[in-house]
Amino acid sequence: MSTLTVSVVTPDGPVLEEAFEMVSCKAESGELGILPGHIPMVAPLTISSIRLKGEGKSDRIAVSGGFLEVRPDKVTILAQSAEKPTDIDIDRARMAKERAERRLQDKQADIDFKRAELALKRAINRLDVYENNF
Ligand code: ATP
Repeated sequence: MSTLTVSVVTPDGPVLEEAFEMVSCKAESGELGILPGHIPMVAPLTISSIRLKGEGKSDRIAVSGGFLEVRPDKVTILAQSAEKPTDIDIDRARMAKERAERRLQDKQADIDFKRAELALKRAINRLDVYENNF
């Protein structure tokens, strides 16, 4: 079975560089499934999970948006943040979710709703990836 090298990079450094047989992710245009030999492509990603499948192994990564670059033998993901389930601080994600929900419920006019909405999405995404629900 042929494989793709998957490389995930953030401003803090590389998160993963490993071979897999399939990459599934959520681009802004919709769900993508990438196999070796895929045509070259660049796509913006949503706040979502990257699902990786290899021979006898699988992994998942929570990303807060970013870009996917596909080449026939390589997938590169550039993201502002990217965490494997084992790197997710579940209490921090729960607190971030509660904080964002409180801000969104607040009726004060000076709340930055878009910012709170994005923070809520990041927190829910981390909780989903940690709990394996996506
Ligand atoms: P918080 O409000 O808790 O900081 P956030 O969504 O605003 O959450 P980001 O700006 O997306 O945080 O990320 C900042 C840095 O902190 C990134 O390096 C990211 O990987 C890390 N990070 C954020 N939340 C978590 C978490 N729950 N577990 C592990 N790392 C996290």
